Amino acid sequence: MASTVEEQKVHFDSKDALTMVEELRGSYGSGKTRSYEWRESQLKNLLKVAEHHEQEIVDALRSDLSKPEFEAYVQEISMLKSSCKLALKELRNWMKPEKAKTSLTTFPSSAEIVSEPLGVILIISAWNYPFLLSLDPVVGAIAAGNAVVLKPSELAPATSSLLAKLVGEYMDSSSIRVVEGAVAETSALLDQKWDKICYTGNGRVGRIVMASAAKHLTPVLLELGGKSPVVVDSGINLQVATRRIIVGKWGCNNGQACISPDYIVTTKDFAPKLVDSLKRELENFYGNNPLESKDLSRIVNSNHFARLTKLLDEDKVSGKIVLGGERDKTNLRIAPTILLDVSRDSLIMNEEIFGPLLPILTVDRVEESFDLINSGTKPLAAYLFTNNKKLKEHFVRTVSAGGLVVNDTTIHLAVPSLPFGGVGESGMGAYHGKFSFDAFSHKKAVVYRGFAGDASVRYPPYTKGKLRL
Ligand code: NAD
Repeated sequence: MASTVEEQKVHFDSKDALTMVEELRGSYGSGKTRSYEWRESQLKNLLKVAEHHEQEIVDALRSDLSKPEFEAYVQEISMLKSSCKLALKELRNWMKPEKAKTSLTTFPSSAEIVSEPLGVILIISAWNYPFLLSLDPVVGAIAAGNAVVLKPSELAPATSSLLAKLVGEYMDSSSIRVVEGAVAETSALLDQKWDKICYTGNGRVGRIVMASAAKHLTPVLLELGGKSPVVVDSGINLQVATRRIIVGKWGCNNGQACISPDYIVTTKDFAPKLVDSLKRELENFYGNNPLESKDLSRIVNSNHFARLTKLLDEDKVSGKIVLGGERDKTNLRIAPTILLDVSRDSLIMNEEIFGPLLPILTVDRVEESFDLINSGTKPLAAYLFTNNKKLKEHFVRTVSAGGLVVNDTTIHLAVPSLPFGGVGESGMGAYHGKFSFDAFSHKKAVVYRGFAGDASVRYPPYTKGKLRL
């Protein structure tokens, strides 16, 4: 039966989006979101979402990604709790105006930087850490005193609907909303005027978001991805290094994490030892049939499964597999897979892998790795394993990435005193801890003067004598 025009209407269109934004603007305009008390109460409520619904969150993440409970808890729920707790502890300090120095030109005067909310914020999040990446930016937006709309990813539908339910139950609906949906709904949202858009996802859609934002001169925070490399030097504690590479790759949503190691660069001489160590530790962690392991997430959906198997099946690549390669299409599982010496013009080396495949490239001298990294677009993260002080310094000085870690992977994400964000193609702007508050605040410059000390030198007539002063 042909569907009626009414049935064809998308579930949430531009008109609905406009009405919603106007309501939120009304609420923001009333000043309620600016008070310390409102911010505190909303942060407390968000903390309750994480504290009171752990099992439902774990279940949703299992349904969307077969995410192991340990990862769901440690990498999503507990990270959100920490963000809320830190914001609650520091909120008064963050909100305080910051004294600023004045100059002789303005003497006598005083100055300060006042953090004011931006207004109504749109947060669009991704499917891979669908709980944390949705609510963590919300912490910053609320702490800074804004009204917020969150659009979770449709590719993690169980988490998306749980977020809609819990935010509806716990948060102030006059100022905080969730809109579920896919491209049509996100496009309807992007048609509106926002005061800031925070987008987490890939660079292709990042460009769409930025183009929409440009129409209204809306600033954007873009949390994107890239190919995050790991450089492995010889003379290291190989077992510890291997374990830390594995946990950053397969232990983070089976490689479907923005800062998971994407590829390794090591020397030709050291590569065989590294491969042996990876094989040994992978078997220790996931057994000899990793397709059955309960400690590995599945691939999110059949499109991503097809994308990853295409990378693996390219002619240039198929002979290079030194471990893994097994797959289970029905259950959307791919075993941890290591490839050695893949060609640099292969597909796998020319897009973000975002899955359980790990190519190893070899160079003659480890220093050459940095040129190789810098010849590509700037990654979100870069890692180096070494005991060589000069090499560490060279790495920090020459490699441009959102963040760097020496002798571990991914853990910079858990340091709230560090900004988390990309550079170049891996994104713009940063958040986490106080940086989240700052990301959703305007830093207003304020100068205070009295009426004394009114030097006539600045006033016309502009005589030659005044110019010499
Ligand atoms: P995704 O498919 O969930 O898309 C992200 C969001 O964009 C979703 O909410 C989706 O509805 C929306 N979207 C998709 N197509 C759109 C369109 N045409 N117009 C408007 N909106 C649209 O996630 P993804 O992009 O597959 O996420 C993976 C990417 O995100 C990787 O590149 C990864 O590195 C990056 N990532 C970055 C971070 C970070 O913090 N920097 C975190 C996670 C993921």
